[in-house]
Amino acid sequence: MMELHILGTASARPTSKRNVSGSVLSTEEGLVVIDAGEGFQNRYSAQRSLMKRSGQNASLRPHKIAAIALTHGHLDHTWGLLPFLQTLALDGRNHPLIIYAPTSPSVWDALQSNGFNAEVPEHTPSADLINQYRAWFQLGANSNELGYEVRWMLGEPHSNKWVELNPDDSSLIWHEQMPQPESFKSIRLDALATKHSVPSCAWQITKAARQGVFDRQRATLAGLNEEERRSLATGNDVEKENGITLKASSFRGPERSAHSIVISGDTAEQSIHPIGIPSVLVHEATFLEDSHSKAEEHLHSTAMGAARTAKACGAEHLILTHFSARIREASVSLNEAVNEYGDSGGITYANDGDRVRIDVEGNVTFYRRNEDGWKQHNLTHH
Ligand SMILES: [Zn+2]
Ligand SMILES: [Zn+2]
Repeated sequence: MMELHILGTASARPTSKRNVSGSVLSTEEGLVVIDAGEGFQNRYSAQRSLMKRSGQNASLRPHKIAAIALTHGHLDHTWGLLPFLQTLALDGRNHPLIIYAPTSPSVWDALQSNGFNAEVPEHTPSADLINQYRAWFQLGANSNELGYEVRWMLGEPHSNKWVELNPDDSSLIWHEQMPQPESFKSIRLDALATKHSVPSCAWQITKAARQGVFDRQRATLAGLNEEERRSLATGNDVEKENGITLKASSFRGPERSAHSIVISGDTAEQSIHPIGIPSVLVHEATFLEDSHSKAEEHLHSTAMGAARTAKACGAEHLILTHFSARIREASVSLNEAVNEYGDSGGITYANDGDRVRIDVEGNVTFYRRNEDGWKQHNLTHH
């Protein structure tokens, strides 16, 4: 099961109802934080308390955080990271944490030529994450001062090459592929390049396909002994004395297919190319149709643009987020998106604290936050 907690749904600046970006995805192999705008740690702990109060299991225990994945360096997506890291230290974290962020090709080249302390190329936007990484290192975000190991990954999302910055000894480690969090076995995390005014990516989290469930009853009815059953259950065929071979695969139910969720940062529409078809796409919808030229100019999306993106990548469900402060009712965004999305799947908008769950079979359920907890909410189908 995977469950995304959407903890901030405002764009650029908070409003009375919406905070800036930040989400956490819970999986059985660990938690992934995606973006951490200002005040993220307060929202995280409030969500965790409400989960506990409403009788949900303590799936948000901070020590289960395996990775933090940033979509881009605009401060509404990153300004809460350092305080969050320091709180993890105060909570006594002592196992490694891996942090991922996109950078530009020119920064990549500079690091490759001139090493850890390479001068940042002239036209690099101030919000490139190399600049923030360095500022955070100076402010004490290193393994020595935090007391737990942090692995700082910078990637160029188009070529998907990654370099690890180690502020403790000013060294770089080059990776041909993005290293995965240690605890991940059947879950994987991938960066998908997006189109924004600074280097940016979306994040896709995939639960791998698994073999079907072993049919114990069938094995028993076939009169197999304990050893033979165990052999079939672990995937080994069994040779019977009469020369007949029992295929392990014929004692399994149908394969359980892979499923995934894609969480965009800020991006122009139709810029995301997921690996396979995502069950859920959480996409920014900063503007309404009347401001579509603004969306194009600033490389953001409208609600309709988010719907076109969802259709283009075949996403089964679309969740709209990252609303401009000028949008008073997200239902207006939803109506615009529904017109464009047609009968392509389920769609809704997110409020702060909403949850979307994908169960082991790939079924999607949306939970709308209310005063005392959450209420299951039907995704609009047309
Ligand atoms: Zn933003
Ligand atoms: Zn942005």
